[in-house]
Amino acid sequence: MNLAAETDRPVILWFRHDLRLADQAALSAAIASGRPILALYVLDDVSPGTWRAGGASRWWLHHSLLRLGTRLARHGLTLVLRRGDARAVLTSVVRETGAVAIHAGGGVEPWLRALDRDLSAILDIPLHRHRTTTLFNPARILTASGTPYGVYTPFARACFAAMPAPPLPAPEGRLRGAVPIVSDRLGDWALLPQRPNWSAGWERQWHPGEDGAAAAMARFLAEGLGEYAARRDLPGGAFTSRLSPHLHFGEISAATLWHAAGAAADEAGQGLLTFRREVLWREFSHYLLYHHQSLPEAPLIARFSAMPWRQDAAGLAAWQRGRTGVPIVDAGMRELWTTGWMHNRVRMIVASFLVKHLLLPWQEGEGWFWDTLLDADLAANAASWQWVAGSGADAAPYFRVFNPVLQGRKFDADGAYVRRFVPELAGLPDAYLHAPWEAPAAILASAGVRLGVTYPAPIVDLAEGRARALAAFAAIRGEAGEHALQEADA
Ligand SMILES: Cc1cc2nc3c(=O)[nH]c(=O)nc-3n(C[C@H](O)[C@H](O)[C@H](O)COP(=O)(O)OP(=O)(O)OC[C@H]3O[C@@H](n4cnc5c(N)ncnc54)[C@H](O)[C@@H]3O)c2cc1C
Repeated sequence: MNLAAETDRPVILWFRHDLRLADQAALSAAIASGRPILALYVLDDVSPGTWRAGGASRWWLHHSLLRLGTRLARHGLTLVLRRGDARAVLTSVVRETGAVAIHAGGGVEPWLRALDRDLSAILDIPLHRHRTTTLFNPARILTASGTPYGVYTPFARACFAAMPAPPLPAPEGRLRGAVPIVSDRLGDWALLPQRPNWSAGWERQWHPGEDGAAAAMARFLAEGLGEYAARRDLPGGAFTSRLSPHLHFGEISAATLWHAAGAAADEAGQGLLTFRREVLWREFSHYLLYHHQSLPEAPLIARFSAMPWRQDAAGLAAWQRGRTGVPIVDAGMRELWTTGWMHNRVRMIVASFLVKHLLLPWQEGEGWFWDTLLDADLAANAASWQWVAGSGADAAPYFRVFNPVLQGRKFDADGAYVRRFVPELAGLPDAYLHAPWEAPAAILASAGVRLGVTYPAPIVDLAEGRARALAAFAAIRGEAGEHALQEADA
């Protein structure tokens, strides 16, 4: 135990999903305590139930922690890094520092909530949890009858009515730092990919950290927001904010984004409304995970547990590597692999292809995304996969099967996206780019495409895959009505 004078006993500022200083309620509370601040980050891969951060996330985390350390140093604070079960780590840090309280950000992940319950029982100092990851307290947004919302639209309406509170200011000047204790070295955590180093090139494209988040937001508000409603579904250009990894790591808060967008745009404009609705999809997914803790593992609609999923290791591998023979699917999966991110429209297309055309369990796709997305987020990933599978909270009809050819023609009409990520097809004319198997032999030859040689033939016949999916989905509904034969190309 550190025998410091009573007023010198610090508070611990425990960073979790909120690696920032602006609009950081835990930091504000730590400052308001008037005590020295011990800034801490714990890499906990071992707590029961934890979803160990995937490979891409670890790359981001490494760089984000570097930036956070630099920012804290400007205010006279040292970021202490520790690794292990957070129960043991916090117990030790409290003992080493004589801390009187812990201020931490929130999070809806089941393992994190269990951890906080355990810590409150184990420690003899208070653990104050502050809301840093969502716009609203998910326990407080309820229907008129006091139950959680199960559908997005009324949930979003309630959020618009409640209006998020304005963000807290970033601290200024020097803060009162605690006497530092021993810290791990970030490099020793080996968060960066080793072999294969699939992160090559990410540094040019992504700038983790609070400054990078602010710059990305400023760029989007100036150049993207106005046309967001019209262009957000087009994967061929940078028409969305690409803030998702920054939001996931909490380098920028949803409230900051919400209010900055409001200040940058016409309040009545369609761009602002559409953008805020997307931000509320993030909020809704966190809300769903808060109220349904099994969301990442089990279907929300119980009958989906009976789905006759297939096992197909070769099909799964082809999907993962972007070798399905369906151009828009392959472009998406290659975008993911090379950039650590994928456009939302294409995420829906590749997910539908996996779950419907290949009839593989959504958890397989969720797991791959978890490992390869820089923005991998337990709530958004699980809720989105369940939405595509039809087993989620919102009314996404199970019989919707995205036709990847029509989707490609509609949203990548000039083929810019497919040509960038599937260059072996670049020479095909637009008319055949999204369905090369329909091209006459002479056109394939003049584009240098040999199906099955330079580019795979489709691993599934789209019509057969769709029919198989509809039969499987109809079976678990116990009905095979004609209405099931619909196609989703909205
Ligand atoms: C199968 C599947 C898996 C997904 N997995 C993730 C994931 O792990 N992490 C993640 O952050 N998003 C996930 N999404 C949602 C969405 O694709 C991304 O949030 C979005 O593409 C990020 O790009 P952006 O920042 O340019 O978004 P913008 O269009 O600029 O939107 C702004 C922000 O709103 C939020 N948002 C937008 N759309 C959604 C949505 N449909 N669901 C939840 N939040 C949304 C994101 O935080 C995003 O950064 C997934 C979607 C699908 C279909």
